[in-house]
Amino acid sequence: MNRSPLLPVDDVIERLVSLARPIDETETVSLSACTGRVLAEDIVSSRNVPPAANSSMDGYAVNSADAAMAVGAELPVSDRIAAGQVGNTLAPGTVARIFTGAPLPEGADAVVIQEDTEAVSDGVVRINDVASPGENVRPAGQDIRAGTTLLERGRRLRPQDAAVAASVGIAELRVYRPLKVALLSTGDELVDPPGDLQPGQIFNSNHYALVGLVQQLGMTVVDIGLVADTFDDTVAALSRAAGEADVVISSGGVSVGEEDHVKAALESLGELDMWRIAIKPGKPLAFGRVKETPFFGLPGNPVSTYVTFTIIAATWLKKTQGMTDVMPRYTWANADFDMPAGSRREYVRVRLHPKDDGTIKAELYPEQGSGVMSSVSWADALAEVDIDQEVRYGDRLKIYLLKD
Ligand code: AMP
Ligand code: MG
Repeated sequence: MNRSPLLPVDDVIERLVSLARPIDETETVSLSACTGRVLAEDIVSSRNVPPAANSSMDGYAVNSADAAMAVGAELPVSDRIAAGQVGNTLAPGTVARIFTGAPLPEGADAVVIQEDTEAVSDGVVRINDVASPGENVRPAGQDIRAGTTLLERGRRLRPQDAAVAASVGIAELRVYRPLKVALLSTGDELVDPPGDLQPGQIFNSNHYALVGLVQQLGMTVVDIGLVADTFDDTVAALSRAAGEADVVISSGGVSVGEEDHVKAALESLGELDMWRIAIKPGKPLAFGRVKETPFFGLPGNPVSTYVTFTIIAATWLKKTQGMTDVMPRYTWANADFDMPAGSRREYVRVRLHPKDDGTIKAELYPEQGSGVMSSVSWADALAEVDIDQEVRYGDRLKIYLLKD
């Protein structure tokens, strides 16, 4: 029995991140298909957005310094400029009808909104309020200036990034090709739904959490399926997985019992470190390689699988996928519960309740067992409780939001 001290979670993450080698294969995707992909180049804008000063309101373009501009002045309307048109130079002593998004004509520097005007007769308008220079005008480059870096390499693209790229005239982006992640579920007791359970059997649930988690990272799943608890089956499944994917992730079989074959299989196929981590739920986690393919052996208890994937393995996966910002993101909330101190860092399942006083209360799911996957389904977030930390009602906790 290995009784060496448990490794701190942060050390494990740091080590994994330093071991991760970002993929260098790229492909081009259209903006319509870029969400969730990781950008493989810096995007520098070659132009200003908006390209020219334009009106932010419907109204009248004016020269705010024009001597004729005064409250009550009745001025001729010398032009009409809708979005998409270009007006003539504004003649002194006149105004130009203008609509939202239309370029400001030469000679104008402000827009009087139509609510502050009155039609006097055909082609003449009374100004009921003057405009100061720049009022109701969106200057050229207000959004984006030519030459600025809009999006940086290593960013995981979001819908708003696609819009920003489109606004400077870009139609395609260079992204890293998605990592292929092979998933396998070890355990003689497992059957895939639907179906009947024979005595002693349970449904394979881990696979379905892992599929979604991998897809949420923008990666592609290679499904290796169920693997029986024998050395030969484990070796065969791992070999196949390694040949078809960039990384292999298994669940179960990484304890050191007689029915846990992952360790022996890995030792015959490649190499592996068995890590005993000060994490709850979790603790055993294997990292190594099957031949040349990196390998994670996650613990089998469903909550342990989920937590070790999201808190630990995801950092390595993100870096390997080319992302620069790989650490799990957290915020803060206040415990709505008490909890005794423990010897491992614990990730408890909580629901968040924003309060009128500006605080966020974290409600604890009553059953925190590592087999209780419904706790994760119920939860909004994982709350981090450190080693030796006794939680008192109201204490501030680090909160890792679960993705929708
Ligand atoms: P193991 O790590 O293989 O010892 O498994 C620990 C616990 O997790 C056992 O109770 C297993 O039955 C359960 N378990 C392992 N794999 C899965 C899975 N894919 N789906 C649901 N439960 C699992
Ligand atoms: Mg097992």
